[in-house]
Amino acid sequence: MIGTHQPDSLGRFGAFGGRFVPETVMAALDELQAAVNEALADPAFHAERDALARDFIGRPTPLYYAERLSEAVGGAQIWLKREDLNHTGAHKINNAVGQALIARRLGKRRIVAETGAGQHGVAAATVCARFGLDAVVYMGLEDTRRQRPNVVRMHMLGAELVPVTAGAGTLKDAMNEAIRDWIASVETTHYMIGSAAGPHPYPLLVRELQAVIGDEARAQLLDRAGRLPDAVLACVGGGSNAIGMFHAFRDDDVRLIGVEAGGDGAQLHAATLGGGRVSILHGSRSYVLADGEGQVLETHSISAGLDYPGVGPEHAHLKETGRAEYVPETDEAALVAFHRLCRLEGIIPALESAHALARAERVAASLPPAAIVLVCLSGRGDKDVDAIADREAVR
Ligand SMILES: *Cc1c(COP(=O)(O)O)cnc(C)c1O
Repeated sequence: MIGTHQPDSLGRFGAFGGRFVPETVMAALDELQAAVNEALADPAFHAERDALARDFIGRPTPLYYAERLSEAVGGAQIWLKREDLNHTGAHKINNAVGQALIARRLGKRRIVAETGAGQHGVAAATVCARFGLDAVVYMGLEDTRRQRPNVVRMHMLGAELVPVTAGAGTLKDAMNEAIRDWIASVETTHYMIGSAAGPHPYPLLVRELQAVIGDEARAQLLDRAGRLPDAVLACVGGGSNAIGMFHAFRDDDVRLIGVEAGGDGAQLHAATLGGGRVSILHGSRSYVLADGEGQVLETHSISAGLDYPGVGPEHAHLKETGRAEYVPETDEAALVAFHRLCRLEGIIPALESAHALARAERVAASLPPAAIVLVCLSGRGDKDVDAIADREAVR
């Protein structure tokens, strides 16, 4: 049931991906892979997933023509895939629901997860409440401070939240701790990774669970506009909303543009594909932001959800083959795009998504009015409003 563009038998997308994990985890990954293959071939799995997508998540999400934004930008039509309207406010829930069903098939009742902005932690806590599973969420201490509302939500949903003080206290450090827990508890525990990264089969599994974004958007646009888009854009942290959006358009004559976090612009702070080197991080070979000695660098972005020094291996492959382009947008550019969407369309986007919007405006401005630019609006900005208000009050 897995479509085209599969990794090879070692889980590699070209030169990227694979499995770089301790022996004890190998067996668990084999077991997971078998369960994934079985689930994806089982109509009962798809029927349950579809019912949850409809009644619990709220799918299909709308496709929205941003008419006033398009007019203001003065070029192509800008269309938004509204993943911000999902239950819990972002695309992360698509993955969490699917992985909860897989965990149940594996007979595992304890879930560990990492989270950056807290969106994946909230999604994991949500599905664990829904399925009666124990949730343990690792979150960097710095992120627990800048994403307070999501910390409160996770507690309310009954998850155990473990603040991580190692490193800079951000997503990379939380992921290290979640993997450490999983290695020690692999018999009883499923590791619910939050992005299209990590060892095989996670990048493939997460892509399959997020591909609904592009599948829906492609069909909706054909139905509404009668044609495919000229360009498709999505922000890239670990790469799950982007790969979920891009997958349906892989074989079409459509530009695929991934937008990374350029931080304050002084360096490409979290732009892994733009400024990284090929290395191994979190069990997989891909681009990594590291120094000359291979030490992983601390990243910085205004958006916690893009603040990750790695990137999913399939994006590395898409970059290497030239099928997709990866470009940075700065904190400032994302903020400008954030406010423009608020004021012109009445939609408060996540800061992560605002990076994709910033580039979408530039691309749209360079195209004629008949052209179509499709953007994945990966999440809503409720979690970000306090941080933005604080930042702008001091200027
Ligand atoms: C987590 C998150 C991202 C980044 O994660 P990807 O795996 O790259 O999609 C982007 N947008 C929002 C709203 C998020 O919550």
